[in-house]
Amino acid sequence: MEQIKTQKIFSGIQPTGELHIGNYLGAIKQFVEFQHKIDSIFCVVDYHSLTEDFDPKIKQEQIINTAIDYLACGIDPEKSILFVQSHVTGHTELAWILNCITPIAELERMTQYKDKSKNQKSNINVGLFDYPVLMAADILLYKADLVPIGEDQTQHVELARKIARKFNNRFGNTFPEPQIRLNKTARVMSLSDPSKKMSKSHGPKSYIALNDSPDVIKEKISKAVTDSGSAKNSKTNGGKNLLDLFSVFVDDESISKQFENDYKNGELQYSKLKPMLASVIISSLKPIQKKRAELAKSPDYVHQVLIKGKEKAEAIAATTMREVRQKIGLL
Ligand code: ADP
Repeated sequence: MEQIKTQKIFSGIQPTGELHIGNYLGAIKQFVEFQHKIDSIFCVVDYHSLTEDFDPKIKQEQIINTAIDYLACGIDPEKSILFVQSHVTGHTELAWILNCITPIAELERMTQYKDKSKNQKSNINVGLFDYPVLMAADILLYKADLVPIGEDQTQHVELARKIARKFNNRFGNTFPEPQIRLNKTARVMSLSDPSKKMSKSHGPKSYIALNDSPDVIKEKISKAVTDSGSAKNSKTNGGKNLLDLFSVFVDDESISKQFENDYKNGELQYSKLKPMLASVIISSLKPIQKKRAELAKSPDYVHQVLIKGKEKAEAIAATTMREVRQKIGLL
């Protein structure tokens, strides 16, 4: 990874269900690399997860599981700040202030809002519409200048940049304009419908969860849609998605080059690629799963991490909020 001139990164993951390899490759993998280079703040964005239908009885469990996923993937709480969004009041306070300088028309343009509104017709709530402003508040509260994310979130970070600029122009220089950082695998596609991104909301057949067993992984990969079959008319082809996945999980680059050549020449045998892909995914996820199982047996440790994370995050957030309140005339 090249050296980057940034001060601080922020990123978040919603506690909405099990994490999948799209979240890992698009987001967490680069978080783990970044934490060794610059100040890093990672958040379980539980307020965001309330914008979808949810069950309050399992919300706590989902929050803890997402924290465990971060830790199992390699987030080191000695190097990074790991905490839960709702534990720090500044997120919603700043979101309200930013709401008052964000034009409604900007939010109406957000493609994720339009997509999610179609998927949850009976629950198009104000939070879903306002989600990008809360996300801008998450980032700006820590004056983060780099946001590593998957491609689906780029429009939201662009809006956060606009909001930062608007605030700075009106009230004086306060926030850096956050830069977007995309991985090579910023858009992993669904296994069952490669025209869509891999997502928790498209059901378990569409994704490989970080915690899937070897048998489940083999089964899902064997059934993954390729370039033929039902996805023939889809905008994205499943074969390329499987090849991309293979290239990031395999150690020996020459094997993936060979498969890519076969693909270009129309000679790729999925009966060969698929079992090998399943095997490299299984072995890559094994250490994560092992660590996950250990952490699940240590709930006290996970709680301690989140309490310490909250204290560190809150200290930064309180300083920003004081400055913001002064600048807008509330203090
Ligand atoms: P989901 O879309 O599965 O509900 P989140 O909204 O919690 O996941 O996203 C967490 C992070 O994972 C974000 O940075 C998001 O951009 C990234 N991400 C989600 N899905 C994918 C994907 N299919 N490919 C690459 N990155 C992804």
